[in-house]
Amino acid sequence: MSFGPFRFGSPAQKHYIELSMNLPMTLPLTIDCNYVLPQFAAAYLVAEQERALFVENNTAHATPRLLRALKEKGFAPEQVEYLIVTHIHLDHAGGTSKLLSACPNATVLAHPRAATHLIDPTRLIKSAKQVYGDAAFDTLYGEILPIDAARVRIMGDQEVLKFGARSLKFIYTRGHANHHFCIHDSESNGIFTGDSFGLAYPLLQRNGLFIFPTTSPTDFDPLEAKLSIQKILDSGAKQAFLTHYGVLPDLQNAANQLLRHLDFSEKLLEAAIQSAEQDSALDEWCLKRLKQYFQETLSRQGLDTAEAWALLKMDIELNAAGIAHVARKRRQNFLRLRQNPLTKSQT
Ligand SMILES: [Zn+2]
Repeated sequence: MSFGPFRFGSPAQKHYIELSMNLPMTLPLTIDCNYVLPQFAAAYLVAEQERALFVENNTAHATPRLLRALKEKGFAPEQVEYLIVTHIHLDHAGGTSKLLSACPNATVLAHPRAATHLIDPTRLIKSAKQVYGDAAFDTLYGEILPIDAARVRIMGDQEVLKFGARSLKFIYTRGHANHHFCIHDSESNGIFTGDSFGLAYPLLQRNGLFIFPTTSPTDFDPLEAKLSIQKILDSGAKQAFLTHYGVLPDLQNAANQLLRHLDFSEKLLEAAIQSAEQDSALDEWCLKRLKQYFQETLSRQGLDTAEAWALLKMDIELNAAGIAHVARKRRQNFLRLRQNPLTKSQT
């Protein structure tokens, strides 16, 4: 199994870094944002002759790391032309305003639904503070400021952007978030998948590939998530650049694991809708079943260790909460439709 050229401190990682420092940069550079843990969330630097762009920027706390990587590649902040965010979730786009203020010539490229929240982050900040509380929000994310609309460019589905020798194709991918796109890069024949092609932490790759989808709140849709996986395969990419975490070479193998897990998530969602559980009891109900599923999967791969559970704790809780959230939403839609069949279903 060849996953993991970026395994922390491995000879392969050192070799890759040396290579990428000396050669013209066709492969994007993976930058560890050190969000929560090492090798948990990445941003990518793509460089052409005189210009550079970032894909993802994590949080405001990661901005110095991104600027350091840029400098090490021999670029000035003035040469950064684009900041691309796959979607607006704060571990992907929370640092956009801070990084943008450091890169005076940069434009943010975003999905139309993401652009709205970049320009006016009030709702985004409010809902994140409700989930995490004020103090934890500051620790995790730092300051998020509104972005001048003139510095945000909306990218359409299938739109292609020329960037030096590269063609970057934007592909809308729902399922994890309604405001999500992936970006195919012609030069590396790779695709930046954000959260649309699962999470594969390097520490969990020691016994073969271990990858799982994120079903976190609030937009999870199993059918759309499966469609997005197919769209990513259909792009013809030979490698995926995962935000969580690093370069994934065998897309078909990963897709098979992801689709199996999404089948389980879909069944869990159906069962949750039918169950009698309400409010936080529904979250607990989903969490119990999802933990059991992870237990079985981790055991099968010889990964059922305290270290693995510590790494996965947050994702498992978020994934369960995402399924419970959608179950509640669909129950409400069903009730609304039953009361008034002419009302449009709200997804
Ligand atoms: Zn996300």
